[in-house]
Amino acid sequence: MAGSSEQGTILAATDLHKSYRMGGQSLRVLQGVDLKVTHGQWLAVLGASGSGKSTLLHLLGALDRPDRGTIHFNGQDLAALRGRRLDRYRNLHVGFVFQFYHLLPELNTLENVLIGAMATTSIFGYLARRRVLRPRAVALCGRLGLGQRLRHRPSKLSGGERQRVAIGRALINRPELLLADEPTGNLDADTGREMLTLLKQFHQDGQTIVMVTHDAEVAACADRQLHLTSGRLTGPPSRKQAAR
Ligand code: ADP
Ligand code: MG
Repeated sequence: MAGSSEQGTILAATDLHKSYRMGGQSLRVLQGVDLKVTHGQWLAVLGASGSGKSTLLHLLGALDRPDRGTIHFNGQDLAALRGRRLDRYRNLHVGFVFQFYHLLPELNTLENVLIGAMATTSIFGYLARRRVLRPRAVALCGRLGLGQRLRHRPSKLSGGERQRVAIGRALINRPELLLADEPTGNLDADTGREMLTLLKQFHQDGQTIVMVTHDAEVAACADRQLHLTSGRLTGPPSRKQAAR
């Protein structure tokens, strides 16, 4: 993606505001969010239920637009993206893991992972690249511990396995930024820890991650934590960053 960026910064949000209109009332959710993420960082945004975490992540992934404020990705203003360039941002530059997985029930594990690649191109483009994409999806599933689950449909998978499929779908295009919405939110404690171990491995390989969670223990796995309260982000500077 074209555009200059401040050294090391992949994502910069400035003064983000977002309100929802409900029955004539305006619900102010984000009220001046500032955020900077550097390449390779794992940032956790910790906030109570209803504090606006998903809203923020949707803005960062360009699934929704802010009422006010700007988001730059590698120096590119997201507000300027339209049509195919916007699709490319959503599908190639970022990967999204949703809290409720959103897997397609008729497709098996491998197909659900490959859907992430199909969304970026025409069916012909996909067919042409299938030779590359299929082995990549199989390898990714192996890394995610799904090697023995390639032909299973979501209904035959455990919650943890479904979430791993969702991570595979988000990573199949090797996005520069992974956005994860409560990646452990629907998992028991042990399965949640397995998920965090997987995220840690991808992070150690250089994956930049922005994760939102209501769970302080989960947030503690990241490099850096910010708190979302009263529509704003607050928090100490990164300890790991300061040590670098
Ligand atoms: P979190 O992810 O932190 O639980 P959300 O970002 O989902 O919070 O929601 C923040 C607030 O905005 C909540 O009060 C929620 O009910 C409200 N909200 C979220 N999405 C919408 C929407 N599309 N329309 C109206 N209100 C919404
Ligand atoms: Mg949420």
